[in-house]
Parts: sequence; C-alpha cells; structure tokens
Amino acid sequence: MNLVVDTHTHTISSGHAYSTIMENAAHAKANGMEAIAMTDHGPAMKGASSVLHFMNLGVIPKYIDGVRIYKGAEANIMDFEGKLDIPDSILSRMEFVLASFHDITIEPGSEEENTMGMINALRNPFVDAVAHPGNPVFEVDIDKVVRAAAEYGKLIEINNGSFRVRKGSRENCLEFVKKCNKYGVGITCGTDAHMCFDIGKFGIVLEVLDEAQVREELVIGISLERAEAFISSRRTVKNNVIAVMKHHNITHDM
Ligand SMILES: [Zn+2]
Ligand SMILES: [Zn+2]
Repeated sequence: MNLVVDTHTHTISSGHAYSTIMENAAHAKANGMEAIAMTDHGPAMKGASSVLHFMNLGVIPKYIDGVRIYKGAEANIMDFEGKLDIPDSILSRMEFVLASFHDITIEPGSEEENTMGMINALRNPFVDAVAHPGNPVFEVDIDKVVRAAAEYGKLIEINNGSFRVRKGSRENCLEFVKKCNKYGVGITCGTDAHMCFDIGKFGIVLEVLDEAQVREELVIGISLERAEAFISSRRTVKNNVIAVMKHHNITHDM
C-alpha cells in the first residue's frame, strides 16, 4: 500500500516540535506526500500556542510547494465528557480535527471512563478522528470506540509515532484495524511528526495495516482524491450543524 496523505503533523507552534509549515511542506513533497494536515497541539498542552493560532489558520494557503495543506488541530480531550481545549466555534472552521488523550493534560481514567471520553469526543460534530486511540496508557473498549466512529462517520487514526513513544500500541492498533474492517470504519494514517524529516514515513503503520489485512477501501490516505472526498463530505456535515446552531441561536460552545 502506498500512502500519499499524512493527517498528523506538528509545527513549531506546538512548542515541542521543531519545523515550520514551510519545512513540513517541503519534506512532505520530498517524501512523496500530496497532502498533510497541520495538526498542532491545543492550548492545554504545555508550551502549545493559544487559540489565536487556530483562529488565524486562514492565512495559510491551500497549497504550499504543491502540497495540499489541511488546516487542523490536535485538540486535547480534557475530561470524560469529551470536552476539548479548543472551542467549537473555532474547530468548526477547520478542515481536519483530531482529538486525543495525553497524560500531560488529563490523568488516565478507568477503561470505562477513557472509552466514554473518546466516544464523547467523536460525537463532537467538528472532530474528524481520534488520534492514537491505541495508546495503552488510556486503555479503551476498542469495539465500542469503533462502533461509535461508525455511527458518527468518523475516522480511527493509526499513528506511526505511537510505536516509538507509546509502547504497547501495536497490539491495540491491530485490534483497531480489525474492528474497522468489521464495521466498515475509515482509517486515517498519521506520522505525528514533530520534525519535518519524519513526515510521510509510515513504516510500522504499513506493517500493522498489512498484518491486520486492512480493507484498502477504508484507508483515506491512499489517494488525494479519497482524502479530498472525505474532507468535503465532512465540510457539508459541519456546515449543516453550523446552520442549525445559527438557526437556534446557539452561540455558546457545545
Ligand atoms: Zn498526540
Ligand atoms: Zn500529535
């Protein structure tokens, strides 16, 4: 399998990543990527940018060096109700939003609590995928999470960085892929690069997808067309939600 989209990359705006969006785009291109999502950490992560970073993403062009840049975020799941650290009013403008647990911003709960938090984050209409859900520090009921992703039309991420920094992720990721196969849930692949050189390097992700005999039609990153189709169908859903919120005069964040 050949992947051409990396939906999880960080820039210096994350505080503990070391490349600019220009460097990321250049290395994405050099490493065979046609698109990347710029998904910097939400403000609850120590050293990350404030919400202003996310409010101003409009200044970034759609293409840099011929690489399609999806404007996004890696929002932190702050509690087991699925509350995120970026308001919906800002998330709603983005093209690709990841939600994830980090033990720096939330103490891991019981399996039941973690599962609830992840499912509640997936329920947020402006979240597109959960990032590194296979992290064993936040053990979840994999079957329940994947069924929720199916219900809400969201993606499960298989994260290459996890295999290095989140030991024990491999078994969980295999299980996630098998459940995605079973329930027909889309899979997105991210390197979680914190340095431009790592963008598009999917070594262990590819091994895991292969070992779990992934149904290739579920993987959105195998062509730019497929990724664009996902982003644009999600845009339609998000716009409908925004229209309903406006109609009901809902200005507060859900
Ligand atoms: Zn993360
Ligand atoms: Zn990340």
